[in-house]
Amino acid sequence: MDFRLPPETIAWRDELRAFLKQNIPPEFEGSDDFFDDEEQVPFAKELMRKLGARRWLTPAWSECYGGMGKTAIEQMVLNEELSYHRAPAGGRLFTIGIVGPAINVHASEEQKARWLPKMASGETWFCQGFSEPESGSDLASMQTQAVRDGDDFIVNGTKIWTSNAQHADLMLLLARTDPDSPKHKGISAFVVDMKSPGISVSGIDNMAYRRDFNQTFFDDVRVPAANLVGGLNQGWYVATTTLDFERSNIAAMTGAHRTLDDLIAWAKECHYGVRPWDKPHVRQKLADLYVEAQTGKLIAYRTVWLQAQGKVPNYEASIGKVWMAYLGIKVANAGVNLMGMFGQLAPGSKWEQLYGRLMTSYLLAVAGPIGGGTGEVQRGIIATRGLGLPRG
Ligand SMILES: Cc1cc2nc3c(=O)[nH]c(=O)nc-3n(C[C@H](O)[C@H](O)[C@H](O)COP(=O)(O)OP(=O)(O)OC[C@H]3O[C@@H](n4cnc5c(N)ncnc54)[C@H](O)[C@@H]3O)c2cc1C
Repeated sequence: MDFRLPPETIAWRDELRAFLKQNIPPEFEGSDDFFDDEEQVPFAKELMRKLGARRWLTPAWSECYGGMGKTAIEQMVLNEELSYHRAPAGGRLFTIGIVGPAINVHASEEQKARWLPKMASGETWFCQGFSEPESGSDLASMQTQAVRDGDDFIVNGTKIWTSNAQHADLMLLLARTDPDSPKHKGISAFVVDMKSPGISVSGIDNMAYRRDFNQTFFDDVRVPAANLVGGLNQGWYVATTTLDFERSNIAAMTGAHRTLDDLIAWAKECHYGVRPWDKPHVRQKLADLYVEAQTGKLIAYRTVWLQAQGKVPNYEASIGKVWMAYLGIKVANAGVNLMGMFGQLAPGSKWEQLYGRLMTSYLLAVAGPIGGGTGEVQRGIIATRGLGLPRG
């Protein structure tokens, strides 16, 4: 593959960069992960709508659904730039990065016309209702049920770790529609209005003292049969497409790269009489991480290049997922160690360095290898589907 971007893509990226510099105030330090802090939500909504009005949120989507009719390469450039400039998450990982592409692949034309334009304009935010308290890695063992009743399905059960459920308008839900079939074959996918009677969302605080995810309960929730995506009992195909797109997202890689660039700039400054950059072991550590960050970027580029060829990357996406998750941990670990006692200060401390970001990154990075499928599960995919090794 050719890793260089075409000249017209570079021209658009420069325009996008200029827009982001103008619209994200320098002092605004959005999150470098995938979630929106409560106080960031109004700004995130405004920014998403501004991008949507220019059709820039969904460059790879067809023009009739609010996109630019470009390729997955432009979508990657957008993700890279938003993440590098620390734009607030704006629900975009789930809406644009995960659910949108799956709807593009599996939904009917009528459904696409109903959902995609409002996603592209930044109006609608999605969340993803897959995991359950007893079903994470073994997702197909899920118990939430959807039973047909006239023109509707009635949903009962619970989903957990639902990121952004408190802000989302719609959910892509997986539920069991045939309890008697083998577990992968009795699941269907639905789009569910989060304001439907019978849905309740209960926040779960994480160890970075943030409420990024939730448990979502369904108590006799009516979902129109017209919201069934991909056909009855065909939900497993929707799920795997969704996860392949989730795992190939470049944003986490870029977030770690930006944190590393900030750390390098910080190390070159003098702090209370000490300039960390003068120590050879500091330079070597940062150089090692820089090599890993650049390698990760090329892994992500290759995955997106496959998407641009019309393929759905599978083990390739898992390679990127493992690389970026552990890179995030390594960069955050190096940062808190390099900063010494400053590295332990939370955002808001009067002595904070780099906005106290490293401490938050350090605490959030732990979740990197878990969300979207654990590191162990990704290694299993790489071993069997990538290397052709037998299943253990
Ligand atoms: C930050 C974050 C955000 C998330 N957001 C969402 C969301 O929006 N929507 C959603 O539906 N879910 C979400 N999740 C849930 C996530 O998908 C699950 O946590 C993940 O799939 C793991 O499932 P589990 O937590 O049940 O762990 P388990 O599956 O119980 O795994 C426990 C341990 O066993 C290991 N293990 C399990 N099976 C295997 C195997 N076959 N081979 C080797 N080791 C194995 C795992 O690697 C892990 O170490 C999120 C999670 C996090 C951390």
